[in-house]
Amino acid sequence: MPKPMHRSHSVKKVNRITSKKRNVVHYRRASPSQPHCAICSAELNGISASGGKSRRSNSRLFGGVLCAGCTSEIITLGSRVEQGDMKLNDIGMKQRRYVLQLVAH
Ligand SMILES: [Zn+2]
Repeated sequence: MPKPMHRSHSVKKVNRITSKKRNVVHYRRASPSQPHCAICSAELNGISASGGKSRRSNSRLFGGVLCAGCTSEIITLGSRVEQGDMKLNDIGMKQRRYVLQLVAH
C-alpha cells in the first residue's frame, strides 16, 4: 500500500526500472490543470494554471471563476432582477448563485 502522501490524485505514478532490473514505482506531483468556468465548464482565457496570483486570475468581475460570456449573462440577469422584470426563481440553479452575489453589492 502506498504511503498516505502518495494516495492523492494530484500525484502521478511513474514506473521505473533500476540498474539492477528491479521494477519500482516513483511518484511525481502532477502539474495543475487549466481552470474552467463554473457554469459552462469552458477553459478560462487569459489565465495560466501556474505562476503568481496575478497570472492565475484576472481583475474582471467573477475573474478566474466565470468565462466572459457567462459573466455578461449574469450581469444582464442581475439588472433584470433589480429592475423587477424577472424573479430569482426564473433563473437556473447554477446562475442564481452568482446573480445573488451581484445583487447583494
Ligand atoms: Zn462559462
